[in-house]
Amino acid sequence: HAAPLPALDALVDGVRNGHRATLARAITLVESRKPAHRALAGDLLQALLPSQAAGIRVGITGVPGVGKSTTIDSLGGHLIAQGHRVAVLAVDPSSSRTGGSILGDKTRMGRLALEERAFIRPSPAAGTLGGVAARTRETMLLCEAAGYDVVLVETVGVGQSETAVADMTDTFLVLMLPGAGDELQGIKKGIIELADIVAVNKADGANLTRAKVAASEYRAALHVLGGREPFWSTPVLTYSGLTGEGIAAVWDEVLRHRAASEAAGALAARRRAQQVRWMWTLFDERVREKLRAAPSLRAQLPAIEHAVAAGELSPTLGASKIAALFGWPDF
Ligand code: GDP
Repeated sequence: HAAPLPALDALVDGVRNGHRATLARAITLVESRKPAHRALAGDLLQALLPSQAAGIRVGITGVPGVGKSTTIDSLGGHLIAQGHRVAVLAVDPSSSRTGGSILGDKTRMGRLALEERAFIRPSPAAGTLGGVAARTRETMLLCEAAGYDVVLVETVGVGQSETAVADMTDTFLVLMLPGAGDELQGIKKGIIELADIVAVNKADGANLTRAKVAASEYRAALHVLGGREPFWSTPVLTYSGLTGEGIAAVWDEVLRHRAASEAAGALAARRRAQQVRWMWTLFDERVREKLRAAPSLRAQLPAIEHAVAAGELSPTLGASKIAALFGWPDF
């Protein structure tokens, strides 16, 4: 039997006081698909709106093995030493297929996981990328209300998830491996264009020179591609997540980007635009869910899908047939 829902007041107070168990409970409500949970989560987010402090939101991406967890562990430690409270979230749409997120796993960030001033939460494991991103974004709001003034949102550098993470953060950090040349051929132009900062990891030991070479190649490539915003030219750094060498400089660039965005009015503009896009993402997702769950559709859908699969009905006509079930004639 389901446990009774907590009272809204208790949730609001618990989150505002930074009570970890309440925060975790609130995140579970945000991630739930049950209408009653969602309604409560919606009320909670609305109630917390006035207490929303402007935290520092940083997106971090890079291919598997680039050193995301090592970097976050090290960067998180640096931030906590400076007095910050750090939340680590992840957007991993593949987790809906595998049933478990590989990102944001506490075991991957051993030191940070032990810190009282850190909160690590894996990716929500359900639905479309838009849905996963929307829930992560709400979780981010909860963490900020709970006093985490830095939120790091991690994603794997494959697919569309970087765009979603860039769209919920203030500064987007792209991690790269040493070894330019071949590597550079494989850069996805889109990712570099999203980058506010490029950081070449593993600049230690035998990799040091290769990391420096890679950095200058990326600098040249960025020079050609141009930056994301007119007031900012994307810096390229080298550092080592393992030794911590250069990690402070990476954070300094995050702060410098933030200051430049604020000065140009771009930070506020970016957040306003994000808010509206998030609303539409949520709306689109819920509309899809509601429509697909409609009994009239569910009864007819297998036959329509079968006819389209068999080539008896064109996909275009199939879509029109579905629309007709909802009474939309000129679809
Ligand atoms: P992720 O998949 O992007 O999260 O990458 P991990 O943080 O798990 O790192 C992948 C591997 O690279 C691990 O074996 C790390 O120990 C190693 N690694 C990460 N950062 C560094 C670094 O700065 N220097 C060196 N030499 N190895 C690193």
